Amino acid sequence: MRVCFLLFVGFFSIFANAASPNGCGKGQHWVKPHARRAYYRGDGTYVRASNVVGHCQSNPPGYDVWNAKLMNGRPRYWHPKEEISSWTDEERERVLEALGELPAVLKDEGIDGIFRLKNALIPDNPASNSFSSVVLYDVAFSKQFNLTQVLGHELTHRLRKSLSDAEFASFQKAAKWKVDPKTGLLRSHRPENQFLRRNGMLSPEEDFCDDVSMYFLQPNKLKQIAPKVFDWIDNHVKLWRVK
Ligand SMILES: [Zn+2]
Repeated sequence: MRVCFLLFVGFFSIFANAASPNGCGKGQHWVKPHARRAYYRGDGTYVRASNVVGHCQSNPPGYDVWNAKLMNGRPRYWHPKEEISSWTDEERERVLEALGELPAVLKDEGIDGIFRLKNALIPDNPASNSFSSVVLYDVAFSKQFNLTQVLGHELTHRLRKSLSDAEFASFQKAAKWKVDPKTGLLRSHRPENQFLRRNGMLSPEEDFCDDVSMYFLQPNKLKQIAPKVFDWIDNHVKLWRVK
């Protein structure tokens, strides 16, 4: 009986290997040899630079869905002055790993594609989104940015759209955004050291996208920097659903 079982397992592995290209097993994909720059994962783990040899890699969570969404070309309804780039093997691996780090609630499968363009019209902008498309620019893969946090921020813009006005008003209150009576514009009354980066001071939405992304990737950091904002997200996150 034991012999039969082992024979069956052996037969199944041979069959699985024969069925997938490059001999990688089920739940794995082939990574071509490439030079990889050093980078930080979303949780702050350092990954050193390396000449990656060709190998079978276990698929990160959601690999099949998101691999099919890494698109070439320019999204529909996009600024024609932004130049198209193409994905490298290094970048594809990095993006799919980063998506694997992000929670399901941020991964709206209604996104039609993640596109790769060279430079944003706004200098040093690492990413952007419009309608159902997300764009990553060259700088998103540089030392200047943490790619997982960049993607987390961009995908949180999608999540924001699913929140009611009342819920977002509740966030604004917790994060101390108030209308300035002189200008009529919203202004935060949190000190600058309670923001993860200056970008968050631009608007409640930018603040929200930085904070929610950090809540999932480095919760202790958010708790330390902006404890009231952390508490608000912690109380609301259970109610959020992927659209
Ligand atoms: Zn943003």
